[in-house]
Amino acid sequence: VQAAFRSDLAHLLELIGTGKESLSFMKKRIRHLGQQWLRAARRLEQKLKGQQRDQKHILIHIGFLTEESGDVFSPRVLKGGPLGEMVQWADILAALFLLGHSLRVTVSLKELQSHLGVPPGRGNCPLTSPLPFDLIYTDYHGLQQMKQHMGLSFKKYRCRVRVIDTFGTEPAYNHEEYATLRGYRTNWGYWNLQPTQFMTMFPHTPDNSFMGFVSEELNQTEKQFIKSNKVNSMAVVYGKEASIWKGKEKFLAILNKYMEIHGTVYYETQRPPEVPAFVKNHGLLPQHEFQQLLRKAKLFIGFGFPYEGPAPLEAIANGCIFLQARFNPPHSSLNHEFFRGKPTSREAKDFIGKPHVWTVDYNNSEEFEAAVKTIMRTQVDPYLPYEYTCEGMLERIHAYIQHQDFCTTSSPPLPPKTKSPAMQSPPSPLALSPNATHLVWSPSASRDPHAWPPVDSLQVWVSETQHTCTETCRRHGLVCEPTFFRFLNKEEVFLQLSITCDSTEYEMNHLYPAVAKNVHECYLQKEPLLFSCAGYNTKYRRLCPCRDYQQGQVALCRDCL
Ligand code: UDP
Repeated sequence: VQAAFRSDLAHLLELIGTGKESLSFMKKRIRHLGQQWLRAARRLEQKLKGQQRDQKHILIHIGFLTEESGDVFSPRVLKGGPLGEMVQWADILAALFLLGHSLRVTVSLKELQSHLGVPPGRGNCPLTSPLPFDLIYTDYHGLQQMKQHMGLSFKKYRCRVRVIDTFGTEPAYNHEEYATLRGYRTNWGYWNLQPTQFMTMFPHTPDNSFMGFVSEELNQTEKQFIKSNKVNSMAVVYGKEASIWKGKEKFLAILNKYMEIHGTVYYETQRPPEVPAFVKNHGLLPQHEFQQLLRKAKLFIGFGFPYEGPAPLEAIANGCIFLQARFNPPHSSLNHEFFRGKPTSREAKDFIGKPHVWTVDYNNSEEFEAAVKTIMRTQVDPYLPYEYTCEGMLERIHAYIQHQDFCTTSSPPLPPKTKSPAMQSPPSPLALSPNATHLVWSPSASRDPHAWPPVDSLQVWVSETQHTCTETCRRHGLVCEPTFFRFLNKEEVFLQLSITCDSTEYEMNHLYPAVAKNVHECYLQKEPLLFSCAGYNTKYRRLCPCRDYQQGQVALCRDCL
């Protein structure tokens, strides 16, 4: 059956069901953004016209909302619980529905079991009939529940799963044997999934797929209106929990010299003691009122936590400047409590940059004060990258559904059993570029029709010892594309890059393929699941698979639709 774009969201709202605060929050959001979604769907339909799209049967199991996972969030929705996740799930539901797929939504274990076909009272047994879904979108909690209730069938069907994973899961944390061996401790990892089956909130973990979310779009008139009504001396503090205000008296005092400070801290009866009296605290606001606040404010200020929810992006979309703290060294799971146990070593960094995002060292009071003063004088336009518009999100999810296939394996680069002479290995798809600093795709080489993104967009660069592949590609105006590692995990690629290898070994290491500096030892990757854009070690220069990308849609290469 062909998937047909939908032109009405009413049926989706029914599908989502009732009975939980969190479901009401999501439905309210979908209703509020309804017109914007429908317009975007029409635009994408025109853009794709003629493209064959199969209708997929999709199960959406939001594990963190089930009672069995503790459903700690639903009751907290009204108190500022992690709305970020709910925002993202609401947007995913809207996008999958509008693309015309057939959806089932579950937020309880019982519904999950009945949809999977697990007979009541029986857990942990293989399913008696074939899984009726082409795709399952879930989260870490849901993954755990599925594993528990599907028995051996879980292994068989896990290639159909997509895990919505706010912060991302790096390959080194996903591979059980390796993570255990190397001490990449985590509360979440070890699923041995393909790393691109994990889908993140922001696009800065290229090892995973960028799912994202949307923000409200403004037309020219609204933008103009917002600009002329900005209150230059109004600041809103990022964060709904009182704890983030602790120990920030010094900055708040400086900020208060210049600006009126607003907060949206949840409180039950009185002002939370952490929030100084000069702050105008609104309590947790309904989402559209929060947007109104951002439309007036000039500055949206983060104190280091939360790190990266949707709110800063919404602030920028509403014409605020986002000011955030620079940490030295940058925070990651290796040195900061919040990231501890999360399967990523990524450093929280800005990705939009000036004039919309300013990063300053808050320990330096002069620098902080100077930034505040300059921001008050700086004019910025509301800014929303295409990838956070409804059309951008629809386009990206469409591309993933159309092209990502983790069930049919296309020739993985298995290490040779015995060391094979170079002439026996398949021809490399890469040819040397004229200046010999990097490799590009040679059109004469045979093209793997299953490869997505198409391999034409590949460029191989060798990293500096202090850089990850993510950073190496970024410095060349490209993004790291982990699915391309299999094309460069070959002895002859070293040769093509004029790297002399006195020895070549296949080993399990998330930094490989790489060459050990000075000693001419070359290393290839033995475990395809460990191919990773993240990580560096000053001993190695890594071979990095980079690709081009669309301006405003980094998830897609130029020929990726
Ligand atoms: N938000 C809200 N009311 C408020 C403050 C925030 O509805 O008073 C919304 C905001 O629009 C954003 C969502 O909460 O879409 C998530 O915010 P945040 O970035 O703080 O992420 P979280 O920490 O909740 O995951």
